[in-house]
Amino acid sequence: MTPKIARFLAEQQPATPCLVFDLDRVEENFRALRRALPLAAIYYAVKANPAPPVLQRLVRLDSRFDAASIEEVECCLAAGAPASAISFGNTIKKASAIARAHAAGVTMFAFDSIEELEKLARHAPGSRVYCRILVENEGADWPLSRKFGTTVENARSLMLRAGELGLDPFGLSFHVGSQQTRTASYEAAIGRVAMLFTDLRERGVDLRMLNCGGGFPVRYREDVPEIDSFAQAIMAAMTKAFGNALPEMVVEPGRCLVADAGVVRSEVVLVSRREPDDAMRWVYLDIGRFGGLAETEGEAIRYRITTPHDGSPSGPVAIAGPTCDGADILYERARYRLPLALRSGEPVELHATGAYVATYASQRFNGFAPLDEHYI
Ligand SMILES: *Cc1c(COP(=O)(O)O)cnc(C)c1O
Repeated sequence: MTPKIARFLAEQQPATPCLVFDLDRVEENFRALRRALPLAAIYYAVKANPAPPVLQRLVRLDSRFDAASIEEVECCLAAGAPASAISFGNTIKKASAIARAHAAGVTMFAFDSIEELEKLARHAPGSRVYCRILVENEGADWPLSRKFGTTVENARSLMLRAGELGLDPFGLSFHVGSQQTRTASYEAAIGRVAMLFTDLRERGVDLRMLNCGGGFPVRYREDVPEIDSFAQAIMAAMTKAFGNALPEMVVEPGRCLVADAGVVRSEVVLVSRREPDDAMRWVYLDIGRFGGLAETEGEAIRYRITTPHDGSPSGPVAIAGPTCDGADILYERARYRLPLALRSGEPVELHATGAYVATYASQRFNGFAPLDEHYI
């Protein structure tokens, strides 16, 4: 946790559950990524944390934005981003959303099917379009592959068709899955899509942009490679595939810019055992799956948790949320241990919760209010 967050928690003792978020950390993360990948344009994946103070800070740094809905497009515009800095990156968009984004000046759109391409031709004529290719998501703790993307073969005919429909066949994209821990996944994906650049050039279509997506990992409980390792792997693969004729490069990081800027403070509601002599305790927090920790589904994202008793003897725990839903369990199999001294009423912190938490909070399921957010 950053010193600024520690001070805020100590001085303000905010009501829980809450997210405390250090905006300076986002700036540091953004600058580090820009240093690591100076040739790539950074489009922040807004869905990771769309809070206005986050968007405003990134606007000041000249970030660009990957928006998934017309609402996210409008949030970026309201935060001061020019329309030319916004990519409408969801491959699944309502016609009305496309038309509104186009009217607002957005000219860059993703697609992965003929049906979506035809919608773009109709409602955003002349726009730059890029086709999302399905790639392996192996190595990702939060994979996304099955829902999005198309084959290289289909992308070839779609890009040819884009020109015929009066659109600008701008480039290709892929996403190797979120919390991707293997640099090789990017290398493999770049190699795969690069062939299509050559192939299409021979057919008279000059693609100009390659979007390597997001997915860069964050340190939760386990170490992950540094961003520099990913940058080096990506640049090596780009040079191998394109030589000196690099296309415009885009990356769309979400998690790695905002996750470690946030800490959730929660209160222990109950510590109990199924039977008096069970070694396993159940620790119930005032935040759970429906309070924003949706990425604990399948115990996929395993947050680091600290307590006031760290360093004292600990024992195995299952950790759950406060609602009456049986699915509201955070961790049962991930072998968490917490101090034996931990009692109800005490605070705990869940670290690196600045991404994909605040917006996943449900609206008053069981009456619980959504998570409070403090941007400092
Ligand atoms: C979610 C998403 C991202 C961001 O992914 P991270 O793993 O948070 O970096 C980038 N691009 C697209 C298309 C996405 O859907």
